[in-house]
Parts: sequence; structure tokens; C-alpha cells
Amino acid sequence: MSEPCDTLTPNTEQVWDWLSVLTDPEIPVVTLKEMGILRAIQIQPDRVVVTITPTYSGCPAMSQIEDDIRTTLAAHGHRAEIITRLAPAWSTDWMDAVTHRKLREYGIAPPTGLAPISTHATVRVTHWQAQASVPCPLCGSDQTTETSYFGSTACKALYKCLSCLEPFDYFKPH
Ligand SMILES: [Zn+2]
Repeated sequence: MSEPCDTLTPNTEQVWDWLSVLTDPEIPVVTLKEMGILRAIQIQPDRVVVTITPTYSGCPAMSQIEDDIRTTLAAHGHRAEIITRLAPAWSTDWMDAVTHRKLREYGIAPPTGLAPISTHATVRVTHWQAQASVPCPLCGSDQTTETSYFGSTACKALYKCLSCLEPFDYFKPH
């Protein structure tokens, strides 16, 4: 008696592979893995436990993310248990350079408050407050101005470029 492949216990790498194609519902060019939202995968005999950390508490995209994970695992014949881990809190530091480039290409200015050497929170806050401008992701001009601290989502501020006059989202460092 043989079982169909999909009901065999998967290994962690397989599950990472399946889930690594899922994208952020708010930023379809980056994956949940690249955003650092997907934290851990544990295989249990009867289910796959997936740990996620929201980018922002109360982020409305989280239920969409949970649905996507459940649907993907169900398609492979597995039941998902999703654990939302709030500590440590998600940080823009979890995004790498590739993710920053993708955000820029998508028209969102990536967080600039990141000190490459120090990731100390105080340094970031100081830098954010001292930040004179956020470069425009469309034309690269640093002649930009914040028009609203809350943009399309709470995680982003709305900016406007004074050179090309285009509005854009700025992913606030936190
Ligand atoms: Zn511009």
C-alpha cells in the first residue's frame, strides 16, 4: 500500500521552497521570506507549524498572508498551524539589499535610517529624526518632502518628489 507523495511528511527545506514563492500582499514584488515575515518552519506528524512576524502590529495584510500559507500547504496535502510571533518585533533590518532594490524598482523608497555598521535602535531613531530627505525611488532626486506620516499603509509614509513631482511611499524604518 503506497501513499501519494503529497501526504508523506515533507522536510523543512521543501516547505521553505513552497512558501518562498509567496509574496507580500502589499508589495507583490517581494516575497514573505525576503521581507523577513516568514520566521520558522517546524514539521509535526500531523501538521506544519509556520511562524510569522507581522511587519507592523495590526497590519491588515496578515490575514491574507495566513490564508496564502494555509492554501499553499493544503495544495501539498498538509495542514498548517500558524503562529504569530510578536517578539522580537519585526525590523526593517530584516530586509536585505536585494529587497531594498526591489522596493525601489517598485516605486517605494526603502528605509534609509539603517546604519550599515550599527543596528542599535537609538542610532536608527536619531538618524530618522535627522533625516533631511528620502531619495526619490523614481528619479533618484533627494529633493523630496513628506506629505503624510501615514501613507497607503501604516508602515509607510507618503512622500512627494519635488523634482519629478511624483508621490511615493517611503517604508519607515522601525
Ligand atoms: Zn522623483
